[in-house]
Amino acid sequence: MVRVNENYLKIQSSYLFTEIAHRVKAFSEKNPSAKIIRLGIGDVTEPLPPAVIEAMHKAVDDVAKRETFYGYGPEQGYGFLREAIAKTDFQDRGINVAADEIFVSDGAKCDCGNIQELFGQDVKIAVPDPVYPVYVDTNVMAGRTGANVDGRYDGLIYLEGNAANGFVPSPNGLKADVVYLCFPNNPTGATATKAQLQEWVDWAKAEKALILFDAAYEAFIRTPGIPHSIYECEGARDCAIEFRSYSKTAGFTGVRCGYTVVPKELLAYTADGKAVEMRPFWTRRQTTKFNGCSYITQRGAEAVHSPEGQAQTKAIIDFYLENAKIMKDALLKLGYDVIGGTDSPYLWVNVKGDSWDFFDKLLNEANVVTTPGAGFGKGGQGYIRISAFNSRENVEEAVGRIAKVLG
Ligand code: PLP
Repeated sequence: MVRVNENYLKIQSSYLFTEIAHRVKAFSEKNPSAKIIRLGIGDVTEPLPPAVIEAMHKAVDDVAKRETFYGYGPEQGYGFLREAIAKTDFQDRGINVAADEIFVSDGAKCDCGNIQELFGQDVKIAVPDPVYPVYVDTNVMAGRTGANVDGRYDGLIYLEGNAANGFVPSPNGLKADVVYLCFPNNPTGATATKAQLQEWVDWAKAEKALILFDAAYEAFIRTPGIPHSIYECEGARDCAIEFRSYSKTAGFTGVRCGYTVVPKELLAYTADGKAVEMRPFWTRRQTTKFNGCSYITQRGAEAVHSPEGQAQTKAIIDFYLENAKIMKDALLKLGYDVIGGTDSPYLWVNVKGDSWDFFDKLLNEANVVTTPGAGFGKGGQGYIRISAFNSRENVEEAVGRIAKVLG
């Protein structure tokens, strides 16, 4: 008899985006002529930058000819891309990361999910709340938690994000082995200062713990002084793994490419306290279970690092940031407290009431879809997330409608 992995049965069945889709469908069936604007999505709306398209076309021509054909590539990524990443994302910014510490993949979601199989079954995991659900659900699937009781899993440590700490939890007094951090944050749009990240690194070093740092939204940082990488902090190479993605940086949500940095100094420990390097572990994991991201995609990703690619991706992100600013200014004017939206595509709005009630109000009265904060964890109750990934026309129309309903 085939036995099921019963950990899957612990996972909350009502997935946030399924419930949103259900409510939107019910509304459109009753109001077929309503023009719904979706400010809930985390997917990009602008096409790929021209430099990427050009590079990918050229790569297609490469694989079309016997002399320049590429089959299986290195599982860790092609040297040309790893070198380009090391130079433009790190070394040019004065950050010490080498090409052979970079592992190219088909996106940050897979890497965030897969990385936890490197660690012992009984490691204590801490996650922020509100949280990007992947960090939680992958650990539930792996059997590192108990049951879900009242919206939280037994055995997981939840780090409270709230208005008082600006949704940047501190490690003060924390006893954990692995902690997930994400800045700029999804869903809250909060960013961490260098001093705040340094506090986490100092904590991790003292506890021999590990930080899993998700920097999927790094490219949205515009405020000088906000760290783009955890490795800007002293000592982070000893205690942090960083995830990056081309999804929001360059519109690769459908094309799929990302990478993970595992520094040579990074150690974890056996039950009897022996230190083990993690970079060979991740190499082994990837070479065994992953067959690389496509050559065509990696040539496209390489073009993101060219001077044209950098200028073009910056212009696209500036466009989304302007969308965010238009919405943030309007909501502040209406008297709402808003976090994010300056170094992030997400606005986190305190709705002064229940998340789902506010979601329903905006859907029914303004025909605008948002994301209820409660769907990202208990700490998200009382907030909604609004995304800047949209056309200018939709953003302006939505802002006008919201002002009418809430004004
Ligand atoms: N990490 C965070 C915080 C995200 O919000 C997302 C996507 O929404 C991802 C990772 C996934 O990125 P990718 O498309 O590279 O899998």
